[in-house]
Amino acid sequence: MGSHLLDQFLQENVQALKDQGIYNEIDPIESPNGPKIRIGGRELINLSSNNYLGLATHDRLRKVAKEAIDEWGVGAGAVRTINGTLSLHVELEEAIAKFKGTEAAIAYQSGFNCNMAAISAVMDKNDAILSDELNHASIIDGCRLSKAKVIRFNHSDMEDLRQKAKEAKESGQYNKIMVITDGVFSMDGDIAKLPEIVKIAKEFDIMTYVDDAHGSGVTGKGAGTVKHFGLQDEVDFQIGTLSKAIGVVGGYVAGTQNLIDWLKVRSRPFLFSTSLTPADVRAAREAIHMLMESTELHDKLWENGDYLKAGLKKLGFNIGDSETPITPCIIGDEAKTQLFSKRLNEEGVYAKSIVFPTVPKGTGRVRNMPTAAHTKEMLDEALAIYEKVGKELEII
Ligand code: PMP
Repeated sequence: MGSHLLDQFLQENVQALKDQGIYNEIDPIESPNGPKIRIGGRELINLSSNNYLGLATHDRLRKVAKEAIDEWGVGAGAVRTINGTLSLHVELEEAIAKFKGTEAAIAYQSGFNCNMAAISAVMDKNDAILSDELNHASIIDGCRLSKAKVIRFNHSDMEDLRQKAKEAKESGQYNKIMVITDGVFSMDGDIAKLPEIVKIAKEFDIMTYVDDAHGSGVTGKGAGTVKHFGLQDEVDFQIGTLSKAIGVVGGYVAGTQNLIDWLKVRSRPFLFSTSLTPADVRAAREAIHMLMESTELHDKLWENGDYLKAGLKKLGFNIGDSETPITPCIIGDEAKTQLFSKRLNEEGVYAKSIVFPTVPKGTGRVRNMPTAAHTKEMLDEALAIYEKVGKELEII
């Protein structure tokens, strides 16, 4: 016997989505999230995870996580500022700072949390944020939470950014101005134009904030997009997640000691939400060490990405202009995109469709995320299925 207002709201909204056939049903995975997964008892080639380097199921990470549980237990027991900071958290943060080439780093429970935390800890209603129109939802929410004026610029359009930066600066209306961009945009796999962004930021005395959730472990020989451009001394906030290439869960900010010291006393998820578990932090640290020791997994990821891209292109698919292993297959029409993904699934490939409003109308795509853990045989099998379904639906 719940509230009738809630019932009415849900009836109108959830039911409406279901009636239109656009309610996103979630398929639980009955296996680890590796290069092949089992769903509904069927084995599928998995081209949908962010487990870029295959670390989510890597033996070395499993081992240290188990040891951490044996030694430390399963929970951290408190928020970071009470007594939920284990020496494991500090060791992870030291490893992140080294990895990112910064003085210090701070870890959060997720990348999403991290953007909510960091933006609102520094920006307020007297400030302005220049935000790429394709920035991730957690950046959008972090900006909203800060109450700063948000000025969106056209995606990676440096002329638009420069014009808006100039206007914001010359208006004299704002105390602080910040520019925020994803390092790698996950829908198309393109890389932010960081050298130009940094140049514009310098010209107008603007702070720079790069969320490299999809770049860390992938670009810059694994060290990320900021290092890819050699800008680690120029970018003020380097954001990352521990949940994609790193394979575990959590997020972080890397920057100067002063910035991290401020976030430790003013960022709310750090102050008011229980810290990452011992197994998470230990496994994440191991993953970062692995990335600093060797580029083997990174190299394999790019080899697989290039192989899949070349294969799809040869078949005649439109794979866009990705600069990373993220490989969209752009179909266009929303219904056809969804049907394409469904047919791929029936034939043995798990590759999710992404349609409006996540991407602009008429640019529906099936997005492929090859990983270091895929074998050539798996990719060949996937390509054969793409060919079959692509011809069947007259896409190629
Ligand atoms: N930022 C970006 C750019 C992302 O793509 C994502 C993940 N979708 C996040 C932040 C959130 O990271 P997490 O999954 O660790 O919360």
